[in-house]
Amino acid sequence: MIPIIGFTALPMSANDIGDEANKILRKHQGSVLFRPESVNVEWLVELVLSEYGYCMELKPDTYFADDIEAVTDFQTRKVYIREDTYNKLEKDDGRARYTLAHECGHVVLHTEQWLQKLATAARAVDITKVKPFISPEWQANKFAAVLLMPEQTFWPAYCDLVQEQDMLNGFEIQELASIFKVSWTAVEKRIESLRKKKGLLM
Ligand SMILES: [Zn+2]
Repeated sequence: MIPIIGFTALPMSANDIGDEANKILRKHQGSVLFRPESVNVEWLVELVLSEYGYCMELKPDTYFADDIEAVTDFQTRKVYIREDTYNKLEKDDGRARYTLAHECGHVVLHTEQWLQKLATAARAVDITKVKPFISPEWQANKFAAVLLMPEQTFWPAYCDLVQEQDMLNGFEIQELASIFKVSWTAVEKRIESLRKKKGLLM
């Protein structure tokens, strides 16, 4: 999921990235933009991959370094995914779903750029040192967050929940995680970024 050596991507704002993810949702599963529900991420990503000429290939866990769950290979147009991560999709595991959405972000946002960089023999860089807006990892994470938790339905669902009285602390996180089938961490980050976007104090 997070290769250290990569390339700097063309700068993209969170809004531009969100537009790309929304385009895909509108085309394939528009209902998620109207009511709070989970994206059928496995089906959706396979569809998008085939549109870009990619396919998904399962690899044994030993194929990957410790904390890597999937890798996008732009040259061979393959998304390699750990077998155990893939199996967790069946159980609607939030982290596995996010991993798949993240790789989909690389395919959509970076395929053309990567091929052009290859043609110009650009030097690989340590992407942990590049600024967020040109980091392919930051961009793919933003894409995944929007794909799994579209603002149009996630934000109203969040507002409804926090307005409920007698609410236990953390209840809304748990509720949103189960509606959108994502991890608690993903929900917390999405709330934080939407609150910032809307100019609300943290
Ligand atoms: Zn990545």
